[in-house]
Amino acid sequence: TNTPVTMLEVEGVSVRFGGLQALSEVGFDIRQGEILGLIGPNGAGKSTLLNVISGFVRPDRGSVHFDGELLTGRPPESVNRAGLVRTFQAAEVLAGMTVVENVMAAGVARLGEGVAGGLARFVRAGQSMAALYRMACDKLDLVGLAALANQPAQMLTAGQQRLLAAARALGTEARLLILDEPAAGLTNDEKMMLAAAIRRIRASGVTVMFVEHDLAFVSSLAERLVVLDHGTVIAKGETRKVSRDPQVLAAYLGE
Ligand code: ADP
Ligand code: MG
Repeated sequence: TNTPVTMLEVEGVSVRFGGLQALSEVGFDIRQGEILGLIGPNGAGKSTLLNVISGFVRPDRGSVHFDGELLTGRPPESVNRAGLVRTFQAAEVLAGMTVVENVMAAGVARLGEGVAGGLARFVRAGQSMAALYRMACDKLDLVGLAALANQPAQMLTAGQQRLLAAARALGTEARLLILDEPAAGLTNDEKMMLAAAIRRIRASGVTVMFVEHDLAFVSSLAERLVVLDHGTVIAKGETRKVSRDPQVLAAYLGE
């Protein structure tokens, strides 16, 4: 078997908000090509950890390396340009644009200075609008929204908007996609679509980390899990082992 390649390495990350220790000495890694699940009860520090990884929160201590490069201290745009893109718990779509235009906008925005500036640069560079459109359709195929490409984005259900947020992230050429509670509030059918989308995204060569509250759902998708409780990693490793760990089950039952 091949030796796994470490893509993201989080070491000794601590974050304090006033009197609250939100994260203490958190460490784990993400391997290239895997689906990693981050789980833990409400308030465990999951979103804060994603904020540290994506450059929105600067840790008091510790480091984050991506492809061997230090990310800690870099602003979110710089982290995105390196190929690490995360979505937020609240889905963001551009209303007044179609679904496919949302992904095209994300594709040009990564060139800099927002959508307008990115578009100007895109045109000056002689890029073809047809190629941008094809790229956007490819990403919609991956997340299962191709049939809705020409619908206004604001017509999508909450679950479809989450999928669109993932397509937009892929449109920025993410190599590591990080999703914060993508399944929250979804119907069972939407959860199945999301799981299929995550599998196709990984099959396309993108590494995926996602936060999830539902142990059964995450266990069906992720090969490895990291479990946070009260800002500390209480378990990590292969899903089939971690999901049976008594400490993990206790953290879930105890909430
Ligand atoms: P999770 O995503 O696992 O539910 P969070 O990372 O959102 O947890 O929050 C972890 C803890 O840190 C919670 O107690 C939360 O209230 C607190 N917290 C999160 N962000 C801030 C902030 N910006 N300022 C102060 N406290 C915060
Ligand atoms: Mg959260």
